[in-house]
Amino acid sequence: MRYISTRGEAPALSFEEVVLTGMASDGGLYVPETLPSFTRDALADMAGLSYADIAFRVIKPFVGGEIDDTTLHQLIVEAYSTFSHDAVVPLRQLDANHFLLEQFHGPTLAFKDVALQLLGRILDHFLKKRGERAVIMGATSGDTGSAAIEGCRHCDNLDIFILHPHNRVSEVQRRQMTTVLADNVFNVAIEGNFDDAQAMVKASFADQAFLDGTRLVAVNSINWARIMAQMVYYVAAGVALGAPHREVSFCVPSANFGNVFAGYMAYKMGLPVKQFIVATNANDILHRTLADNDFSRRELEATLAPSMDIVVSSNFERLLFDAYDRDGAAVAALLERFQHEPAALAEAPLAKLREKFSSHSVDDATILEVIREAHRRTGELLDPHTATGYRAAERARANAATPMITLATAHPAKFADAVIEAGFPGVELPPHMEGLLEREERFAVLPAELDAVQRFVAENRR
Ligand SMILES: *Cc1c(COP(=O)(O)O)cnc(C)c1O
Repeated sequence: MRYISTRGEAPALSFEEVVLTGMASDGGLYVPETLPSFTRDALADMAGLSYADIAFRVIKPFVGGEIDDTTLHQLIVEAYSTFSHDAVVPLRQLDANHFLLEQFHGPTLAFKDVALQLLGRILDHFLKKRGERAVIMGATSGDTGSAAIEGCRHCDNLDIFILHPHNRVSEVQRRQMTTVLADNVFNVAIEGNFDDAQAMVKASFADQAFLDGTRLVAVNSINWARIMAQMVYYVAAGVALGAPHREVSFCVPSANFGNVFAGYMAYKMGLPVKQFIVATNANDILHRTLADNDFSRRELEATLAPSMDIVVSSNFERLLFDAYDRDGAAVAALLERFQHEPAALAEAPLAKLREKFSSHSVDDATILEVIREAHRRTGELLDPHTATGYRAAERARANAATPMITLATAHPAKFADAVIEAGFPGVELPPHMEGLLEREERFAVLPAELDAVQRFVAENRR
């Protein structure tokens, strides 16, 4: 299996190289050169298998033999044994034909665990084989940092440095990162905002001289292995509800478009999907693009669903590449225009996207209303991200006969403030997180200066 860039200029890479690389040298994102496909029989055969066994069948073609089958299966089994539910990503019925896919049973209570538990193990495997070490650097305003730390804490060949804005993440989110006291985990509180932290990470990727040749790896959702791992739950949920014999639809709370893009890949590989609904909060670039062909930036708005607060949606580029029939030059031109001014998609690619994708945007007042309404009607307490999906699924659904699967991307305990604002007394943390607020924390506080941060990384990596 080879991987090519969405902008058509960077060299094609193998799976191992693409996992270790992150962004392509031409500024694009890597996608598979050809997609494997599942026959109806291959899908039907997956019904009733364990999550890990389905994961092995879905992931194997993308690895292209670069990890032997026994090892790959073992990495997958280990990754998903960290989840507290035997089904890993279980389905829960909300009404006659609407289901929640609970993605929050991993160590940090949000869907990013599904990909990062596996990515850490795959990276460590390749580094060990090469006799190399690598450094991970990332900036976080919340969910990604803790999921990346949990995914890498047991990786011998990786050191991970996560920057967060000092005093500007919630206590639960900070403690999920800073109470991991492993030797290879370094939390840095930056005296600045998220953008300062992000800018220093970007600058470090652009010029890696400060690491004297040690590889710097990105674990944000531009890393192909994250998309690959996320395809699995679409297939698992689909076959559980009757695929390939009947179609299913998905509604996905979206920001960088990594989650829903993985679903689209599963569809392209043969999973019969009737409709994808893209749910956004008030940061609605995806909704404006799909509904009004308004592909333009707006100011960032802080919402009750903070993990969906984005201005630009990085993985949307992967979908554009498909919609533009893999014309890297056209994608590069569109994104170049988008950098400087409001842009619009060409008619044919937009029409193609609209055949499969619908969208809906949900404001904060509606999020609170939906948390109350869903609880009244189903007994389920939704987190604010999932609440956007619940409402979008109702409003944008094409037909009632096809099962609708809304992705529950976070546990309500992780966003207890919104749940309390909706009128509930609060949410208990799950058992494995009891005591989080009393555990010892470790983090460095550094000024928002690139030199200081790079010196800290260079001196502390092992
Ligand atoms: C990251 C995140 C999202 C958005 O996922 P994308 O892949 O960026 O679209 C939604 N909900 C939660 C809870 C998240 O952490």
